[in-house]
This record gives sequence, structure tokens and C-alpha cells, in this order.
Amino acid sequence: MSEHLRERIEQRKKETDTVILAHTYQPPQIIDLADITGDSFALAKAAAKLPHKRVIMCGVRFMAESVKILAPEKQVILPAPDAGCGMARMIKPEDILAWKAQHPNAAVCAYINTTAAVKAVCDVCVTSSSALKIVSKLEQDEILFLPDRNLGGWIAAQLPEKNITLWNGYCPVHDELTEAQVLAAKAEHPDALLAVHPECREEVVRHADMAGSTAEIITFALQSDKPVIIGTERGVADTLTQKYPDRAFYYLCPETLTCPDMKYISPELLLAAVNGEQGESIELDETLRLQAKKSIDRMLELG
Ligand code: SF4
Repeated sequence: MSEHLRERIEQRKKETDTVILAHTYQPPQIIDLADITGDSFALAKAAAKLPHKRVIMCGVRFMAESVKILAPEKQVILPAPDAGCGMARMIKPEDILAWKAQHPNAAVCAYINTTAAVKAVCDVCVTSSSALKIVSKLEQDEILFLPDRNLGGWIAAQLPEKNITLWNGYCPVHDELTEAQVLAAKAEHPDALLAVHPECREEVVRHADMAGSTAEIITFALQSDKPVIIGTERGVADTLTQKYPDRAFYYLCPETLTCPDMKYISPELLLAAVNGEQGESIELDETLRLQAKKSIDRMLELG
């Protein structure tokens, strides 16, 4: 990326009172241009506290919606409007209403990787790092967990006292990883520890030295005195290897662990978004936004 391009982005950001957020799965050159990086909920919380009038969310649609839910007064721009999330597409509000009707006493628990419309018909949201604690604290014993069957199964295995029913959704990227691929990576790097995201299947997670959110994987990798195989979307390993060239981080099947929706944004497209020539300004119906915010507020209460 040219210095000229970076300077133009910086200049336009100042002129337009804009802050750039980037999810950790974004390519390193976008991470490098961002003011704040992190997972989706950390970014939304940070955005709500920032003074800027305009937020550019380098990530996928549900992430930009989460920012808008928490910061309705700001203009929130999704630079690549086609960037969705394969998992979030696997459930719709009407699916949940029908599911709830079959389980009237259950608490409905939505992973943060859902649309605002889905959050609006659920009782509580969770992130991958808070899910275990929040589900354990719910007063209801019966839980409907959506949309990720892998994260939900990981929670259910740790909370046998809860009756957890899973929606059959999954992340098309993490779910693709197989046990054979994991065993091959471990055989190639026998001295390394393995960190994976709980969106991976149980047959993968069972071989890991730690399972956790992207932020937890990064902390684990940086604190480890052994090399670490990074079992989540390749953007995490891309950024770690670029930022810490002296440390040993290994990729786990980077071809499999590439989320195409996270790779739409280039520095040129980001400049066009800062210039107001590219991207979609996220709008949410106010009633829906307030309903969706209730499930996030409940998460903050219990988390
Ligand atoms: S990695 Fe999976 S969960 Fe994350 S944005 Fe891509 S499809 Fe969605």
C-alpha cells in the first residue's frame, strides 16, 4: 500500500470526523489502516463510546448492525455491502418464532453472529467468550441456542445441568475444518500448541490445547512460550505473523480457514468509503433496534 493512499485516508478521516474499525479477520493491510481492531462485540462497544460522527466498519453486515444498535446517533458505513456472514444467513426471525412456539418455557439465546432482526426476537445474546458464563446464569433450564450448533454443542457439553437444544447452523469456514487436517498439522509441528475457535466441530476442538474467542486465541498465542497453531480464520494468523515476525505462529489450513466475506475490502475501497463514494449506510427501524438492544443489554447484565 502506498504512503500516499494512507495519507489520503488519514486526511479524509479528519475532515469527515470518521473512525475506522476492523474485525480481526480482515486482511493485515486493513488492520493496519484501522483505528481500532477487535472482535465484533468489542468493536461495537468501543464505537458507542467514541466521539466521532461516522464509523466505517470493516467486517460483515451483522457487525455494522451491532454498531448501529449500540450507537444509533452515528452514521455507520459498511464499505462492502455484499459482505454478509454464512452463519448469520442460516436463521431468520420467523424460524425463531416457530421454534419458540414449540418450547414456550425456554430461554432463547442468540450468538452475536446474527442479524439485528434475529436478535430482536431472542432473550439474550452471547459472544464466544461470554457464552458459557451467560448460559450458566440463565434462570431457565431449557435453552434454545442459535444459530451455531458447534458453539452451542461446546457449551452444552460443559453445562450438563441445562437442557440445550441447538439450531442446525454453523460457520461455513470453521465447520469445514476436519480432524484429519488437525492431526496433520499437529504431526507437522509436534512442538506446537493448538488453539481453536469453538465454531469448529467437536472432532477438532477435542484435540486443542485451548478453545476460545479470537481475542482469547490472540492472548493465548502471545503469552505462550511454545509455538502455536492458530485454528481460526486466517486473518488472525496473517496479522500475528506480520506484527510479530520473530514469534512462531503456524497456520492451520489457511485455504480452508478463509472467510470470503471478510476479504472484500482493499485499501482503495476503504478510501472510497471514507470519501463517501462506496458502501452502505446502515439503517435500522427504531422499534427493531430497541428490541435487539434488549438482548444485548441482558448479555451485559449477565456477562
Ligand atoms: S468466519 Fe464464519 S462466522 Fe465469521 S463472518 Fe465468516 S462466515 Fe460468519
